[in-house]
Order: sequence, then C-alpha cells, then structure tokens
Amino acid sequence: METIKVSVVTPDGPVYESDVEMVITKAQSGELGILPGHIPMVAPLEIGVVRLFKSGSKEEDLVAVSGGFLEVRTDKVTILAQSAERAEDIDVERALRAKERAEQRMQDQKAEDIDFRRVELALQRAVNRLSVTGKQ
Ligand code: ATP
Repeated sequence: METIKVSVVTPDGPVYESDVEMVITKAQSGELGILPGHIPMVAPLEIGVVRLFKSGSKEEDLVAVSGGFLEVRTDKVTILAQSAERAEDIDVERALRAKERAEQRMQDQKAEDIDFRRVELALQRAVNRLSVTGKQ
C-alpha cells in the first residue's frame, strides 16, 4: 500500500517522523483523515490525538498535540504544534496533576482573576494526554 511521510514538529524540535498509510487528526472543522495523494491543504488543529497508521502494524501510533496546523503537500504531511508528545513519552502523573489543578481552578468560582479560557485549555491538554496513554 502507498505511504506518505508525516512529521510532527514543535518549537523544541521534531517529535515524530514516519511513513504512514493514513493519518487522522482533529481539525477545527472536524476529524480529518489524510491518505497518500491527498490534495495540498493547510488546516488549523484542535487539542487532540493524531493517529498514525503504519504498514504491517496492527496498532496505530498516537501523538497528543496541543493545537497547531496541519500542512499537506504532495509528498509530505507536516503537523506544527505548540507542544506534542508521543504516547510513550507522556508523564501520566504530571497530566493527572495538571487535570486536578485545572478542575480545582474551575470550581473556584469566587476567584475573579481566573482566566477561565486558559484553565479550560489546560484541562483539555491534560485530558488529551491522558486519553493518549489510555488512562482516561
Ligand atoms: P503542565 O501544567 O504540566 O506544565 P501544560 O499543559 O501547561 O502542563 P504545556 O505548556 O502544554 O504544558 O507543555 C510544556 C512542555 O511540557 C511541552 O514540551 C510539553 O510537551 C511538555 N509536557 C506537558 N505535560 C506533559 C506530560 N504530562 N508529559 C510529558 N510532557 C509534558
């Protein structure tokens, strides 16, 4: 089966690179599946999981990304994200602490100086990381 090269890149450097048969991401417009031969495009991404299907492998690779952009070119897919972690690199305890912290802040309705959008995004990042590790 045909494959396409996929790179996931952050400001700290590359996180993932492989030839895959299909990549599925969560774009702002909805779930997006890219196969080799897809027309060139750019799409903004949500906080979500990137699922990468490799030939001959039953299990897909999973990468948690915190938003960013997907760029499809004829020979390559690039995902540029503010942060991205492969499932095996996620620190579950850290994500659980971040989730608890965000939930606590959300409950703290009295604190007027809380930026709820920021807290909500922190919660989404933590839940997304946990979902990639299968702990949520
Ligand atoms: P925290 O509050 O735990 O720092 P965060 O969502 O605010 O979480 P980010 O700002 O998204 O963290 O990421 C900062 C850096 O830390 C990035 O390089 C990111 O990949 C890494 N990172 C964040 N959480 C985890 C985690 N649970 N496991 C591994 N790396 C993580």
